[in-house]
Amino acid sequence: MTGVAVHLEGLRRTFGHVHALDDLDLSIEPGELIALLGPSGCGKTTALRILGGLDDADGGRVMVGGEDVTGLPANKRGMGMVFQAYSLFPHLDAQRNVEFGLRLRSSKKAAQRASEMLDLVGLSGFAGRYPHQLSGGQQQRVALARALAIEPQVLLLDEPLSALDAKVRVQLRDEIRRIQTEVGTTTLFVTHDQEEALAVADRVGVMRAGRLEQLAAPSEVYLRPATAFVADFVGLSNRLPGVVSGENVEVLGARLPLVAPHGGGAATALVRPEAVEVVADPAGAARVVTSSFLGPTSRVTVTVGEQVVVAQVPSSRLGSLPAGAPVRITLQPVPVALE
Ligand code: ATP
Repeated sequence: MTGVAVHLEGLRRTFGHVHALDDLDLSIEPGELIALLGPSGCGKTTALRILGGLDDADGGRVMVGGEDVTGLPANKRGMGMVFQAYSLFPHLDAQRNVEFGLRLRSSKKAAQRASEMLDLVGLSGFAGRYPHQLSGGQQQRVALARALAIEPQVLLLDEPLSALDAKVRVQLRDEIRRIQTEVGTTTLFVTHDQEEALAVADRVGVMRAGRLEQLAAPSEVYLRPATAFVADFVGLSNRLPGVVSGENVEVLGARLPLVAPHGGGAATALVRPEAVEVVADPAGAARVVTSSFLGPTSRVTVTVGEQVVVAQVPSSRLGSLPAGAPVRITLQPVPVALE
C-alpha cells in the first residue's frame, strides 16, 4: 500500500448563514498524516466529510492521487473511515465486522485478510468476540482494522478517540500512529484535542472559521505559532504588554524574538508559561500568588507590580515557591506571537 497525494482546493460550504468552509486549501503528501485541529464549529468535520464524499461542497475541488473525485460518491472513493461513535455491526463478531467491506472477494481471502488486519491492530485473539464483549478501545481497533482492510487510498479519522478514557486514548493514539506509519496510508485525522494532534501528526492544520490558520509540523505550530489565534489555541499563553523594536519585543525587561514581523510600537506578547522562569529571591520584585501541583510540572502564578504572570516549573522546585514568597522572574528568549 502506498499513499496518494490529496488536494482540497478552494472548498466552500455554507449551511444557511454559516460559512463552514471558507475557501479552504489543504494539501496532504502521499503517506502523510495531517491532523486538523480547531475549536468546535471551525469546519474540521465538514472538510473530512467532503473529502470522504459524505457531503458536497458548494465550490472547489477534491483531488486524490491526481484525479478529480469531486463528483464521486463515497463508495467510489476507496476511503477508510473511523468515527467517534463505535460503528460496528452489533450482530457480527470482530472477524465478520472486518470482513464486511470485503464481501465481494472470495470468502477465504476475506477471512485471511480480516485476520491479518486484526493482528495489525493487536486483536488477533478477539476475532470471535461481539462488539458488546469488547471495550471501547477494542471496538475502535476493530473499526480501524475494518477501515484498513479495504486497502483504502485515504484514511479518514474523525475524533476516533473522543469517547475513550484518558489512558486508552493515549495508548490507541500511539497505536494509530504506528499502524499508519506501517501501512503508509495518507491520513486525515480530525480532533479538537491539541495534545492528540501534536502527538500523532506529521503536520497539524489549525483551523479557524472555515480556513486554515497555520499548517506546519507539530513543534513549529507550538514553538512558532503563526498567529495569536494559534498561540492561544495550542497551549497556554500569558498576555504581556510589550514594545516592539525591530524583530524583537521588549517584555518585562527581556528582549524576545518575534515569530512574525510587526510594525512596531506597543503590543501584547503571548508568552508560554514554560518560557517563564521563577527563582526564589529575597530581593525579588515579584511575589508568588498561588502554586498548584500538577504532577511532574506545576503552575506558579506570580505578580510583578500589577501584572499577573503564570509560570510552569518542575514540581521539585515547588517547595521553594510558597504563596507570598519574593521571587524574580526571567523570560527565556523563545519566539513569541503578538496579539
Ligand atoms: P466539532 O469539533 O464541534 O465537531 P467542527 O470543527 O468539526 O466542530 P463542523 O462540524 O465542520 O465543525 O461544522 C462547521 C459549522 O457548520 C458549524 O457552525 C456547524 O454548526 C455547521 N454545520 C455543520 N454541518 C451542518 C449541517 N448539516 N447543517 C447545518 N449546519 C451545519
